[in-house]
Amino acid sequence: MKATVQILWFKKDLRVIDHIPLVKACENKTPILPVYLIEPSFWKQPFCSKRHWSFLRDCLIDLQKDLINLKSNLHVEITESLTFFNKINKTFNISSILSHEETGNKWVLSRNQKVQKWCKVKSIDFCEYPNNGVIRNLETRDKWSQIKKTRFNSPIQNSPGAINTINYQFEFDLPSINNPIFGNEEIFKVQKGGRKEALKIFDIFLKTNSANYLKYISGPNNSDQSCSRLSTHLTYGTLSVKEVLKKVNFYLDQNSSYLDKSKIKNIKAFTSRISWRCHFIQKLEDQPSIEFKSMHPNFDALTRYQSINAHFRSWEKGLTGYPFIDACMRSLTQNGWINFRMRAMLVSFASYDLWLDWKITGNLLAKLFTDYEPGIHYSQLQMQSGVTGINTFRIYNPVKQSIEHDKNGIFIKKWVPELKNLDCSFIHEPWKMDLTTQKNNNCILGKDYPNRIVIHEEAIKFVRNEIKKILETDNYYEMSKKVFKKHGSRKRNSIKVTNNTKQLSLF
Ligand SMILES: Cc1cc2nc3c(=O)[nH]c(=O)nc-3n(C[C@H](O)[C@H](O)[C@H](O)COP(=O)(O)OP(=O)(O)OC[C@H]3O[C@@H](n4cnc5c(N)ncnc54)[C@H](O)[C@@H]3O)c2cc1C
Repeated sequence: MKATVQILWFKKDLRVIDHIPLVKACENKTPILPVYLIEPSFWKQPFCSKRHWSFLRDCLIDLQKDLINLKSNLHVEITESLTFFNKINKTFNISSILSHEETGNKWVLSRNQKVQKWCKVKSIDFCEYPNNGVIRNLETRDKWSQIKKTRFNSPIQNSPGAINTINYQFEFDLPSINNPIFGNEEIFKVQKGGRKEALKIFDIFLKTNSANYLKYISGPNNSDQSCSRLSTHLTYGTLSVKEVLKKVNFYLDQNSSYLDKSKIKNIKAFTSRISWRCHFIQKLEDQPSIEFKSMHPNFDALTRYQSINAHFRSWEKGLTGYPFIDACMRSLTQNGWINFRMRAMLVSFASYDLWLDWKITGNLLAKLFTDYEPGIHYSQLQMQSGVTGINTFRIYNPVKQSIEHDKNGIFIKKWVPELKNLDCSFIHEPWKMDLTTQKNNNCILGKDYPNRIVIHEEAIKFVRNEIKKILETDNYYEMSKKVFKKHGSRKRNSIKVTNNTKQLSLF
């Protein structure tokens, strides 16, 4: 007779603490098979990169250690999920497959639906449990905040003392980052993954780095040291959002007698961003089509370039002729991370100045961001490209940003060494150099460094006209109200939908 087994399916929840599916599996006596599946068809998707695998690989190594401490094991296999479940079901009777709910790309959604259907046919329980503050089948946004709060106030789920593990030929032969399954682009430096690292950097952030959080949050030179850098850990779930919030509260309580006001303000600014995380992911959960379609459908009529062109290539390579844009892109390509403001500016430049569709730029950025989290990514891409209908249009002036955030050109010179001899009068706008100045600085435009590929002011004039046409469409305001009802933040001080006339005057 076949033994019965519960499959504990790890996805983007690579921890054993605050892991509801693990706790639920341990509540009954059926032995457990903990698995992580490397699904080849997932890794073929245009948003995947071996950068993600590199981080994930570290996380799986730590997870395996934690499971061994719980007298268990992790089985890792390169296989499509249904192929694997079918195989296991031949050897064992699968009673249930337990996992966290996952808000991901269309690929993830349809894979989950297939597995769910298969489970129904085979009379296997397909049990998904809530992960963090994202609510499945949310009836209305009005209720979101309260439900989320209740969840976060509930206690952390401790890991069980030991896991009743099935007797199985466990394999833990992690493919190297150079395995062709993960693509072949060069990835340079990658953030270190794993639960241990997450706890370490979180501790450093709370005790030390958070002191400068707001001061440097948008500054390209210091933000990698003063921001928490927890995004990729939250993406892969080495820490849960609830754990982060509880640890912050504990830290504030324990140290309230000597923490100064500024430190508390910084930490609170951090926790509100943690909350934004769930707010944004909820949008994709509620409307999976935002991976492909604008939240405000009228903006899908914009004539932005849908395929890769010369401007896209220049932007991708950091060769647009705008030094600050190029420095940000090159830094991101090397490090797999850049701060929020610089991400927003890169998207604004691509979507407005270069008039590129956010979906093609979005795929490249998804590959470059180690922390790629679909729910945040598509919502932010759309916001920064002005297609939500509920957010203020923000067209960043790349020269103004450059002067504001890198006055002396330190960041530019680091990443765009072609410009290392330029002084502050030209570093932000090298196109202002005459030929003699170019020669004196060993930087001939068009040879050593490109001439700017567009003139911001002219590009924006065209863009404003195109957007105005959308704002003038008859149903614009009605559609915006619908988007707000579905996705808008209910906080009193958040942006409210403005009617067309008001939007036009703001624009
Ligand atoms: C176009 C664009 C795409 C983005 N794509 C992603 C993405 O794929 N994955 C991702 O994690 N973040 C994304 N962000 C949000 C933000 O830039 C990163 O979360 C942040 O830079 C990560 O660094 P950190 O962990 O040091 O952040 P911290 O400033 O320390 O913030 C703490 C945490 O709060 C959350 N957070 C911070 N800012 C935001 C925000 N604006 N919206 C939602 N959550 C936020 C993140 O989980 C972050 O780890 C994107 C922003 C833009 C403009």
